[in-house]
Amino acid sequence: MSSIDTLLVHGANDKVTYAREVNVPIYLTATFEQKSFDDHSGYGYARGNNPTRESLEHLIAALEGGKHAFGFASGMAATSAALSLFSAGDKVLVIGMIYGGTYGVLNNVFSGFGIKWELVDIDKSEDLEQYITDDVKGVFFETPVNPTLKVNDIRGIASVAKKHSLLTIVDNTFMSPFAQRPLELGIDVVVESATKYLGGHSDIIAGIAAVNDDKLAERLHMIQALQGGIIQPFDAYQLIRSIKTLGVRVRQQTYNAGKIAEFLAGNEAVKTVHYPGLESDPGYELQKSQTDYPGAMLSFELADGYCPAKFLDSLKIFTLGASLGGVESLIGHPATTSHRSIPEDVSKKFGISDLLIRVSPGIEDTQELIDDLAQALKLAKK
Ligand SMILES: *Cc1c(COP(=O)(O)O)cnc(C)c1O
Repeated sequence: MSSIDTLLVHGANDKVTYAREVNVPIYLTATFEQKSFDDHSGYGYARGNNPTRESLEHLIAALEGGKHAFGFASGMAATSAALSLFSAGDKVLVIGMIYGGTYGVLNNVFSGFGIKWELVDIDKSEDLEQYITDDVKGVFFETPVNPTLKVNDIRGIASVAKKHSLLTIVDNTFMSPFAQRPLELGIDVVVESATKYLGGHSDIIAGIAAVNDDKLAERLHMIQALQGGIIQPFDAYQLIRSIKTLGVRVRQQTYNAGKIAEFLAGNEAVKTVHYPGLESDPGYELQKSQTDYPGAMLSFELADGYCPAKFLDSLKIFTLGASLGGVESLIGHPATTSHRSIPEDVSKKFGISDLLIRVSPGIEDTQELIDDLAQALKLAKK
């Protein structure tokens, strides 16, 4: 299977199973019988392994262009597992802004374990060098960055990190492996909230992590089994089912995002649009060089004199809610939701103003989405 479109549909069940089933079965069992007193081969206690979960992990590994993948109970469980690869005294450089939950877990959990971290603002990958001290052991970033949609140079950062033997982790939630595969560009660990594009229907919370390196995989599998933040078999089944339509969804969502971005860019109620699929966006060329699709997430700033609350409360098709990547269009206000736990001076510095709105277009009719935004923007004037 060389095409990702074929892989999406068939990648989970090209393993030999018992009854030659066409679909992956849900193994609802907490344990498996030992073959005999001294034969522990095959499956054991299901926190360690479960065939439904394994089918998902097999599929994710192939989609991410990696050798190994792991299914978790949430994106935060996957991120926490990846951050558990560090030890007390290690310092992690976090590039640009990150998801509020990741900020929170670094600040409130991993800092307590002695893992240091610093948020660094860089324009090109070489700028990273100035922050690399002896204790720096890793780099964590998103691209495009949530919610400012700033594009980070995956190849460039991976190469600076390699030179200094730093472990690189990318949160690929905003893109999904259909559009962007950081492992193929030299990154060590990719994590993703499968709640978003992979799940795509706003009905499960799940996460994944993928790697190429066998030793890293062994450690992640150990962390997954010992910390226990595993994805449940039913959720794994739902994800496998959802992933079959990932390509169809992302293509339509990207199309809608492009049209919405163009509309917003020409509207007087809008100060700036952040969408790396727009030729005028500072991240346009870089995004094109490292992704198959520009992605479907965008954000924009209302012009002065417009009220975010009035705008958001006037929408009829867009749902005001804190998530993204679903078939239904979602919209949100990062400053008071996803990024509210980040101190105001920090979030302001990274461009999360009160006027910033984040948009996750779904697969609805393009013109009806644009009309909905247009009527709400008119009502948003103070
Ligand atoms: C939602 C999200 C997460 C966390 O995922 P959960 O599944 O909610 O735990 C992490 N990173 C990004 C970029 C997200 O949008």
